[in-house]
Amino acid sequence: MDPVKSRIGAEVDALAGDLFKVSEYLYNNPEIGYQEFKACEFLSRFMEEHGFKSERGTGGVQTAFLARPAIRLKGRPCVAFLAEYDALPGVGHGCGHNLIAAASVGAALALGRNLGEVQGTLALVGTPAEEGGGGKILLAEAGVFAEMDAAMMCHPSRLNRPGEEMFGRVKFKVEFFGEAAHASISPDRGVNALDAMVAAYNNISMLRQQIRPDARIHGIITHGGDAPNIIPQYTAGLFYVRAANRKYRDEVYKKVERCIEAAAVATGAGHKIEVGQPTFDPIKRNPPLEEATRANMEALGISVDPDDGRRGSSDIGNLSFYLPAIHPSAAIVDPEVPGHSKIFAEATMSPRGKDALLKAAKFLAMTGYDYLTSAELRERVREAFQKRE
Ligand SMILES: [Zn+2]
Ligand SMILES: [Zn+2]
Repeated sequence: MDPVKSRIGAEVDALAGDLFKVSEYLYNNPEIGYQEFKACEFLSRFMEEHGFKSERGTGGVQTAFLARPAIRLKGRPCVAFLAEYDALPGVGHGCGHNLIAAASVGAALALGRNLGEVQGTLALVGTPAEEGGGGKILLAEAGVFAEMDAAMMCHPSRLNRPGEEMFGRVKFKVEFFGEAAHASISPDRGVNALDAMVAAYNNISMLRQQIRPDARIHGIITHGGDAPNIIPQYTAGLFYVRAANRKYRDEVYKKVERCIEAAAVATGAGHKIEVGQPTFDPIKRNPPLEEATRANMEALGISVDPDDGRRGSSDIGNLSFYLPAIHPSAAIVDPEVPGHSKIFAEATMSPRGKDALLKAAKFLAMTGYDYLTSAELRERVREAFQKRE
């Protein structure tokens, strides 16, 4: 192994106790999206104690931060390590973002201590509200990444992967407006908003048979009526459309709109569709940067799993259209364990979770080092970024 990479590994091992404390603090203080005040302050202070300067509220987002090594605040190229730290309602760190933050902190410190003669620098970007809030999108729109050249993070998972496809996502609210009437005495005078909702739901369910496997549609009815003896005058539901590229996501969404319109026509109810912001883009993958990650994972003895075809969405998708970005994963549970669960949260604190944290910090730092020191890799990363949709 390259002697600097060996030193990076040794730095991470030396920091192990501190990194576990970071992960544990977040685990014990779960905060949901845009409420991560404790996490933002704790991480900023931690970085300052380790020779970084941290700007809180970066990009105008209160619970975001930008930490850079005091010895090299600026420089190009610049690698950004992303720290997520939002939790989920009810299940705490059921998505394991405490481990994401700790791994990126470890990567930033270990690479920061080995910048030496290396050209360029790095940054640790605290990116709040991944779970639906799209913190990375706000930061990217505010220009936080304008002087950065590549972004990376590692998500705990059931698989060890250098990267995988992600779905782009549109979320929207559907409402139907009918006419209330006595359901027994004068049903003929009513317009049934629940029938409209059920028809829309069934139209969408039938559409599902005709869509590609790289798309998903799912939803719930949030308001189904007020009493069984009143023809429902108002119903509402929430739906997601997801797909692996932006064009197909938007195409499926248009078809879903028609399913809803048809239900309105059939029942005579009025309808309204409200698209929620932000809309998530699928990830624009960068094969050369993923290959570099894979090589570093393998050098650390991680056996990379095959892709199992299961997909989620993340705001790193949008970010990956601003600059080359990777989203590798590190296994902390067996494949049958679901994400967004208490068991998954507990796994971040297990021996396996801790081992994955250190390995992730190492391969992120090593990949950052590859990127900063190889003009040839940077060129291939740039070409791939310009080429792929
Ligand atoms: Zn999640
Ligand atoms: Zn997550």
